[in-house]
Amino acid sequence: MTTNAVEFERAQHVLVGGVNSAVRAFRAVGGQPRFIASADGAYMTDVEGQRYVDYLGSWGPMIVGHSHPLVLERVREAAGRGLSYGAPNVMETELAERIVALFPQVERVRFTSSGTEAAMSALRLARGATGRTKIIKFEGCYHGTADSLLVKAGSGMLAFGTPSSAGVPADLAQHTLVAQYNDLESVRSLFLAHPEEIACLMVEPIPGNMNLVRPATGFLEGLRELCTEFGTLLIFDEVMSGFRVALGGAQEWCGVQPDVSAFGKVIGGGMPVGAIGGPASVMDKMAPLGNVYQAGTLSGNPIAMAAGLATLELISEPGFFDRLSARCGVLIKGLNEAAKAAGVAFTAHHIGGMAGMVFSEHSPASYADVLAQDTTRFKAFFHAMLDRGVYFPPSAVEAFFFSSAHGEAEITYTLEQAKAAFQSLH
Ligand SMILES: *Cc1c(COP(=O)(O)O)cnc(C)c1O
Repeated sequence: MTTNAVEFERAQHVLVGGVNSAVRAFRAVGGQPRFIASADGAYMTDVEGQRYVDYLGSWGPMIVGHSHPLVLERVREAAGRGLSYGAPNVMETELAERIVALFPQVERVRFTSSGTEAAMSALRLARGATGRTKIIKFEGCYHGTADSLLVKAGSGMLAFGTPSSAGVPADLAQHTLVAQYNDLESVRSLFLAHPEEIACLMVEPIPGNMNLVRPATGFLEGLRELCTEFGTLLIFDEVMSGFRVALGGAQEWCGVQPDVSAFGKVIGGGMPVGAIGGPASVMDKMAPLGNVYQAGTLSGNPIAMAAGLATLELISEPGFFDRLSARCGVLIKGLNEAAKAAGVAFTAHHIGGMAGMVFSEHSPASYADVLAQDTTRFKAFFHAMLDRGVYFPPSAVEAFFFSSAHGEAEITYTLEQAKAAFQSLH
């Protein structure tokens, strides 16, 4: 049998850093990345045969657990009919119909192959539809790897954004204005400085890429009002929160309607899918009806559509989200109690099946709060749990994910291990 160490060494000869998505390399926590051989229900098993209760959930998609029988059956059926056509298939329409039925402002959908592509295309659509160039995003929010979105705040309140990655031209980054999440004044001042220049404001309505942060009362409503006032499209990036905090996403949970939504993760059920949705008046600006170009060889791929449809069918069962949220709540309460008993400053919280933990006394309200936590303790806790067979995301700035396959046995096991792990932090 092979080992994780052997496989990581081998991978580094042919894959950049041994991985195909940077965070998988464990740089934020140190140590040995695990190579997964299989996954089933709430569990992943690595190449050494070590089993883990999985709270990574492929970073969000696996809301019904791994290898769900219905999802696998539909994928196998679809595979038997061919892997890709490059021509329309009916499942694309069916999945779009489901999304249109669930999201009040969505009349038209365009599928992509990733969340990155959805966010990137939504940006181009917003710029094309408004004829404006500048955009607003928030520090700490992540929208995939499109150039315009790999931008951080420059120095000074009203400064233009600066690239957060090499390879992003400053000329492009200057069109991205960066505000602070949960700080409406930081947004208002950007609008006032550029009243007729802002094409869209893109936000994770419930951020999950700077750990899990709750929108402050009135914050999302305030964004809606500002966007309407300044003729700017409000884009909710629901790639993570969509079908995860509630069936109708963060917008159902908070009652605020964006102009355009980006989806991904859960709608692909573990296959590569993203989507943009919005009213026909905006969406029809896209090719072939409009002059905003957008296309993809594998977009609406039949296998991916089949996995997405099966997953949506499962999470649409009455009471699914109430059960998911209640059970996730038991885990969160238990984690908080275990930390308290061990005298460790720690706070976990959740919205539906999306959860977060920070090593500080309070759940974070801002990006600064997330950065202020004790990351040394996070790393120690992460590894203590991993050694005990519980796999949390390998980064202190990420959310973690609960699935309907996580039952009492998995929660009990996790909490037993957490008690020992918290004690070990002293
Ligand atoms: C994961 C994520 C993306 C990017 O999706 P990919 O499928 O990884 O390209 C975009 N936005 C948010 C909010 C995400 O969580």
